[in-house]
Amino acid sequence: VERIFQGRLMQAPHIAISGAGIAGLTAALALAQKGFAVTLIEKRTGFTETGAGIQLSPNAVRGLETLGLGSAIRRAGFEPEEVAIHSATGREIGAVALRPFMQENYEAPYLTLLRADLHTLLLDAVRGTPSLRLIVGRNVSHWQEEREQINLTLTTEKGGAETLEAAALIGADGLHSKTREQMGDKRSPVFAKAIAWRALVPLVDAPDFAKDGRVHLWLGRQGHVVHYPVGQGRLLNIVAVLPAQEAVPGWSQPGERDEMIAAWAKAAQPLREIVSLPAEWLCWSLYDLPVHRLAQGRCALIGDAGHPILPFLAQGAALAIEDGLCLARICGENPTDIASALRLYTKIRLPRVRQAHTIARRNGMLYRATGLKALLRNLRMAHLGPEGMARRYDWVYGHRD
Ligand SMILES: Cc1cc2nc3c(=O)[nH]c(=O)nc-3n(C[C@H](O)[C@H](O)[C@H](O)COP(=O)(O)OP(=O)(O)OC[C@H]3O[C@@H](n4cnc5c(N)ncnc54)[C@H](O)[C@@H]3O)c2cc1C
Repeated sequence: VERIFQGRLMQAPHIAISGAGIAGLTAALALAQKGFAVTLIEKRTGFTETGAGIQLSPNAVRGLETLGLGSAIRRAGFEPEEVAIHSATGREIGAVALRPFMQENYEAPYLTLLRADLHTLLLDAVRGTPSLRLIVGRNVSHWQEEREQINLTLTTEKGGAETLEAAALIGADGLHSKTREQMGDKRSPVFAKAIAWRALVPLVDAPDFAKDGRVHLWLGRQGHVVHYPVGQGRLLNIVAVLPAQEAVPGWSQPGERDEMIAAWAKAAQPLREIVSLPAEWLCWSLYDLPVHRLAQGRCALIGDAGHPILPFLAQGAALAIEDGLCLARICGENPTDIASALRLYTKIRLPRVRQAHTIARRNGMLYRATGLKALLRNLRMAHLGPEGMARRYDWVYGHRD
């Protein structure tokens, strides 16, 4: 499309994105907002989204606001009052201030919502953007750089193949990214010897304490449990992380209810009540991979493709959103030299995603601490108080691109 682009009459550079998850959809919208022509390629044929709850901290909500999705995300979300932290034996050991603290300090709320609602909201915005083309049922299976462009090979499940030319490829193809592999990073994500079990139940069925508008986090030597309202407060999202020797494939492997109940048999009564609520659990394995590089030539990685992160800082979706916005801003500032723009993107994002990765890992160890380490952890939480606990993550929540 020849048009006025960045104040000049020129062809709007065409950018291809592999993967229409939260990272890919956000990047597509942000790049379109900067005037780029975007093709978003998704290997699945439909979007019957799975997933349970997702937490969106103010840094992510502010990012979505810049895409014009502020009111929609606030409508879809639930704004909890605080995170109440308990030991699995029933002692309340600390809290993290959320409402109104987050809005007052970081100019956006901390929300909990269904992953499917977030995905749908982004997808609707993509479908409503004329300069964005969404192709489903195509796998970005190969690409090659040639002078000023990148040539992609798209394949279908039935063995069909087609090609596409673009000025750059953004790999937003998730944890087991093909783009990352083709960029020369042959490492596979490492199974963290833990499985996340998730379930959604109607909030009306939950015990009263779970309806108090707070996120509850229970820490035990056998793992941890977190539960919070989602679906605008209609549903309770429960996630339990337990150790495991073997990984399970995908995001939705059925889990045995009795196994979950047995794992918490010696826990406090309210926690036992929570884990007994769901009739069905779905499991996904947790993976970890230290960040290597985020760009090479005309190709860049965003979201889980670039930096798989353990969920113990609740920043998976938030970092994916930040990546997309940062990438679009930098490409928008230098549209005639995309390769340099991608190098700058990697320089800007690497320190932040590395720090988040390290802290998420450390939190996982703190959650499982026992003996003296657990005692010191609990004393520190009590000493900091709810606002002090929240302020530890100023660098996360207050981040501006
Ligand atoms: C089905 C599902 C359920 C999830 N459930 C939860 C949850 O309950 N709670 C939680 O905290 N997080 C969940 N996550 C993870 C969370 O969405 C991500 O950690 C975070 O949002 C970052 O997203 P992403 O876009 O980088 O990756 P993803 O969300 O993994 O998206 C990657 C996308 O790329 C597509 N793709 C992969 N390879 C190719 C290819 N070669 N060509 C084209 N397309 C490709 C995939 O089909 C997918 O749509 C889930 C992810 C998925 C895919």
